[in-house]
Formats: sequence, C-alpha cells, structure tokens
Amino acid sequence: MADYDYDLFVIGAGSGGTRASRVSAAYGAKVAVAEEYRVGGTCVIRGCVPKKLLVYGAHFAEDLKDARRFGWDVPECRFDWAVLRDNVLADVDRLNGLYTQNLQNNGVEIIAERATVTGPHEVTLASGRTVTAKYILIAVGAHPHVPDFPGSDLGITSNEAFHLDALPKRVLIAGGGYIANEFAGIFNEFGSHVTVVNRSEVILRGYDHSMRDRLLQISITKGIDFRFHSEFKKIEKLENGALRVELSKYEPIEVDCVLFATGRVPNTKGLGLEEVGVELDDKGAVKVDADNQSSVDSIYAVGDVTNRVQLTPVAIREGQAFADTLFGGKPHQVDYHCIPNAVFSHPPMAGVGMTESEAKNKLGSVAIYQSDFRAMKNVLAGRHERALYKMVCDGVTKKVVGLHMIGPDAPEILQAAAVAVKAGLTKDAFDQTVALHPTMAEELVLLK
Ligand code: NDP
Repeated sequence: MADYDYDLFVIGAGSGGTRASRVSAAYGAKVAVAEEYRVGGTCVIRGCVPKKLLVYGAHFAEDLKDARRFGWDVPECRFDWAVLRDNVLADVDRLNGLYTQNLQNNGVEIIAERATVTGPHEVTLASGRTVTAKYILIAVGAHPHVPDFPGSDLGITSNEAFHLDALPKRVLIAGGGYIANEFAGIFNEFGSHVTVVNRSEVILRGYDHSMRDRLLQISITKGIDFRFHSEFKKIEKLENGALRVELSKYEPIEVDCVLFATGRVPNTKGLGLEEVGVELDDKGAVKVDADNQSSVDSIYAVGDVTNRVQLTPVAIREGQAFADTLFGGKPHQVDYHCIPNAVFSHPPMAGVGMTESEAKNKLGSVAIYQSDFRAMKNVLAGRHERALYKMVCDGVTKKVVGLHMIGPDAPEILQAAAVAVKAGLTKDAFDQTVALHPTMAEELVLLK
C-alpha cells in the first residue's frame, strides 16, 4: 500500500462515488475523491432532488383548486417561479454542504478539480499534479444528450431548467422518457403551454402499455400537446426572442424554450480511459463485470457511467458493494432483479418487475388483475382522472411477477408493495391481507 499515494482514488462525487468513498474510508482506506463541479452529483445538484421539489411545487396548482371543493376559500393564486427556484437552489446548496461534510467526517480528501486517468494506478489533476492509487473508481456519471441539428444549441437541458430566469410561456420538450414526462407535468401545472415531441410513437417505451396509455390520456386532458414520430429539422431564434422549431411531419412551432430530454450519455470523453486500456461500449460507457471491475484490473466503475440502470439507488448500491468487497472483507454483488422505478409525472407512475407484455413473452401463461378507479379525493374534487393498478402474475403459480401503478402517490405505495414482489409472494398473499380502508393502496389487496 505504501507504494501508492492513496488506497482508492475516486473520480466523481455523485451518488455512487460518495458512497464508495465514504464507506471505503470508514473501513480504513486512504481515499481521495476528485469532483470538478459540486459534491452530490446529478441526483442532488441537478436531478432527482431539485426535480422532486419542483414536482411538489407544481402539484399545488391542483391542490389549491381542489381545496375550494373541500370548503376552503382560496383567493385567486399567482405562482412566482423565482421564489420556488431560489428556495429549491438553496436546498441544493444545503445538501451539497451535507454531502461534503459527510465525506470529510469520514476522512475522505475532496479534491475540487477535474481528474483524468493517466495510468492503471495514476490520475492527473487539472492543476498538473499526478497522484497514484492502488484502485481507481470511475463514478463520473452521465450528461444529457442533445441531438445534432441546426440550432440545437438554442435549446436547454434539465441541467439548465432549474436555473431559468423566468417561466417560459410555451415550452417544447424533446423526448418521451422520464425527464420529458416529468418536466411536461411540472411546466404544465405552472401554466406553461407544453408540447412534447418524440421520435417514436410512444412515451416511456419500457413501461407497461396500460400505464403509458393512461398517462398519455391524462396528460392530453390536462392540456399537454404531443407530436409523435417527428424529427427535429431546425431551430431558429426570431427577432421577438421566440424560437421557431421546424419538425418533420408537422407545422413549425413557435415557443419560448426548447428542453432536450433525449437520454443521457456517459461522461467518459477525455477521461483517458481508453488510452490506459479500459474498454468502453458503443455509447462510451465503461464495460464492467458483476464486481464493477473494468478491463483494467485496478480500475473500477459504478453508476450512470456504466449505463447499466441509470438510477441513483442503484449507483449507491454499486458504490456500497464496491467498498464492501474491496475494503470491507464482505464481498457481494448488486442484485438487479426487481428494481422498482417511478416517473414523477402528474399523476405519477411506478412499477416493479415485468410488464404485461414482457411476462407474456417470457412466461407464456400470465394472469392479469387490475383496478381502474377514481381516488376518493379526486371524486370530491370533481377531478375525473382515474388511477390504474395492474398486477401481473405467473399464470400457473400465481406468483406476482410485476406490479404497475399510475395515480396519486403511486411511487410511495409501490415502494412498500415492491418488497412483496421482490420476495416472490403470490396473488393469494395479497388477497389474504386485510384492506386498510379507506386508502388507495387497499386496491392492491382487492384486485380482480
Ligand atoms: P429516457 O431514456 O427515459 O428517454 C429518452 C427519450 O428520448 C426517449 O423517448 C427516446 O425516444 C428519445 N431519444 C433518445 N435519443 C434520441 C435522439 N437521438 N433524438 C431524439 N429523441 C431521442 O431518457 P431521459 O433523458 O428522460 O432520462 C435519462 C435517464 O435518467 C433515464 O433513463 C433514467 O434512467 C434517469 N432518470 C430517472 C428518473 C426517475 O427515476 N424518476 C427521472 C429522470 C431521469 P424513444 O421513444 O425512441 O426511445
């Protein structure tokens, strides 16, 4: 060990990198982490956390309207984007401080510089200093992909969405995945006119078709426009400051903001990985084995840079497994089976396990149980949108192999139910559980 400056050098202080650094240091390793932007990474600084706060903020638009039906005298309300934006950014600062403190409390040295890999055990910092480490962990995450066409630089990505000077009156969102649907809901609730443009014919391709269809139908009812099967041709800035967007198959659209939510690309460019023999895949992701080890024995990678499952809790588990295995004497691998997922759209969706079509392809015989209902609160509020819960079971054993939900608080409810699905319980086990009445979650034990 004495031959190296550090036992572990981590590049990137996001969810995976901070967990790996902190736990490795707690096991007694000498650890440094280099971060060129802010400690916390995408999730904390410009992803899940500020996005969820915007989702909460957006939901007040409906809550304030509904409150009148529950007897509250709510005067005409006005939304002030700058107040929410600044409060959210202040909370991000607070979390950035907590993450920094947490690393320091565990004895991790934080180096606020870009680092590149210059050897199997060597890292060179932006200042020119070179350090050595027994192990190097790549945890640099990913960045938004922006399609290349004339004027695409006039658009923004989710990175910039949190810092907008003013709320755009008209927003065009490119893409039909997680970020597109979450920001479509956010901007729509704040009063912007939203148009979602996607290259394929569906939103949220990997999700169960019934959930996707329900979200699309509710989103259209709420006033969001969709353009499918459309490619971007050109964006130009008009004299009045607006953006004119030319699309294939549709008339040009004039908007105030174009937000690209067209996937994320691993941050490996210019990191020196290929030069030292680390294999990357065709998307630039670091190829790793089940122990997060790359093609170079001393170099590992966790999180979005490996493009396995681009979710924070997965990156955290990978970082934990890395530290436990290399420094804690507790080797283990991340179990990727039955990872729950959620889209914080309006209303939100959540799912775990196989979709109905996946199950049909894999198992042949499946049994589907559904509940299509209007949440009690929505009934009194005069809100017509309906929730949908779907349970996918093995047709023979009745084991629950998938659970999918769209409706108020779906992610909160699904997290608990995911334990049962992960544990391999059957439909009978759900049926034998007495309902908790009156809740939305009780539909899970009353599915027909
Ligand atoms: P997604 O992969 O969810 O969706 C990308 C969308 O962009 C798809 O609709 C895709 O179309 C389209 N697209 C992809 N490439 C192009 C292209 N070159 N030109 C035009 N359209 C394109 O990506 P997001 O950017 O929404 O999110 C990135 C990742 O971040 C997610 O995969 C997820 O892992 C994570 N995330 C998770 C969240 C959560 O857990 N709630 C929230 C936000 C992000 P097509 O329909 O053809 O595939």
